[in-house]
Amino acid sequence: MCSRLTHRGTANIISLGKIVETKPAVAFHTLGCKLNQAESELLARQFAEAGYRVVSGDGADIHVLNTCTVTHIADRKSRHLLRLWRKRNHRALLIATGCYAERAPEELSQAGADLVVGNEQKMLLLDVLKDEYAPVARCSAEQFVADGVSRVRSFIKIQDGCNDACAYCIVPRVRGREHCLAMADVVNEVKARVAACYKEVVLTGTKIGAYKHNGANLKQLVEQILVVTGVERLHLSSLQPQDISPQLLNLWQDPRLCRHFHLALQSGSDAVLRRMRRRYSAAGYRRAVSLIRKIVPDVAITTDIMVGFPGEGIEEFEESYCFCQEIDFADIHVFSYSSRPGTVAARTPGQVDDRVKKERSLRMLELAQRSAHKFCQRFLGQNMMVLWEKEVAPGSEIYSGLSHNYIRVFAESKGPLTNQFLPVRLVRLHNQGLWGEVIR
Ligand code: SF4
Repeated sequence: MCSRLTHRGTANIISLGKIVETKPAVAFHTLGCKLNQAESELLARQFAEAGYRVVSGDGADIHVLNTCTVTHIADRKSRHLLRLWRKRNHRALLIATGCYAERAPEELSQAGADLVVGNEQKMLLLDVLKDEYAPVARCSAEQFVADGVSRVRSFIKIQDGCNDACAYCIVPRVRGREHCLAMADVVNEVKARVAACYKEVVLTGTKIGAYKHNGANLKQLVEQILVVTGVERLHLSSLQPQDISPQLLNLWQDPRLCRHFHLALQSGSDAVLRRMRRRYSAAGYRRAVSLIRKIVPDVAITTDIMVGFPGEGIEEFEESYCFCQEIDFADIHVFSYSSRPGTVAARTPGQVDDRVKKERSLRMLELAQRSAHKFCQRFLGQNMMVLWEKEVAPGSEIYSGLSHNYIRVFAESKGPLTNQFLPVRLVRLHNQGLWGEVIR
């Protein structure tokens, strides 16, 4: 995998030298997947330990943008943010890293990034900056938290890269071949997050079902985490149908495992799946879903659906739509196909018109909304344990959190609920999930 490190110039770094005396404030902004979130979280921790103040918002001395390049819209968002920060604060040091930085560093430099750091050097960012200047004082873990980094949920990367070659996907090019972290390292990371009072840990990667290290697979890794750590809630970010087996699902006898499976479908049409070079069929997907539902009660199954893949005819779209209706997802993330330079699909004839993609996307979104409401409705009147995250708006006394099966729940409370597991009675529908009454 080629990596990128480009330097647009040193002007901002030199001007930052003045700010360094008072400890620079660094803000991390993350686009894209949970893997990017895990990496941003780790970077933020490294920066805090090295003496930077980790802050949120626009006014930082240094902005680190962890980019995504999965669609042209993600690319556009990155360029927009860089231009915006440059306009608002011409003295700030703007650093772009992540998948877009790996794919097209020059585009990010043109948009205003002072430094563009590819995926391979992403975790060495601190060293790159150390060569330019070093902050004077160190910041404690408490301060890191006080500066606005939530301790409710923590993302841990266990795997990276992908050896598959799905026709539309740019990920293998920007993330390289599959590689996994050692089991002992992951377990130690989980223990460290538990010690820092995080209630939930999310295991992330490009393809976590492919986890393998020294003979250990994903099942063994999860088992080990459950046995040797005190993690209160463990969540697997995303799996593929071929990862699902009765042996893996038996782990869900432990109530600490979130009853939520995100299984990317992309299309419910076998012909489209074949052209996408996905490694499962609609029937295989259906079998995986029934197995999960048989073993894991009240489970939420969510998915990604792509509309307008090259050559997707109206019959294939309808087939995909009907399949999604049949599966009855708890939620569907709908994407319009976006041509990525260098992928097989970008060169495939039969590119679908943007207007048609928009129509299909709107129909799928409407189905997604109906399915999500239907799923939530099933739980009205029941009591559920919720991990409360934060007050929706400061002073609103309305808190939001997630149930074990990832339903977003809202409740009023005079006292703070953040970072507590508290039971709630689910009383009515909310446009983003359910309303509840906290049971104390
Ligand atoms: S499995 Fe396919 S879609 Fe997923 S990262 Fe690999 S190539 Fe991309």
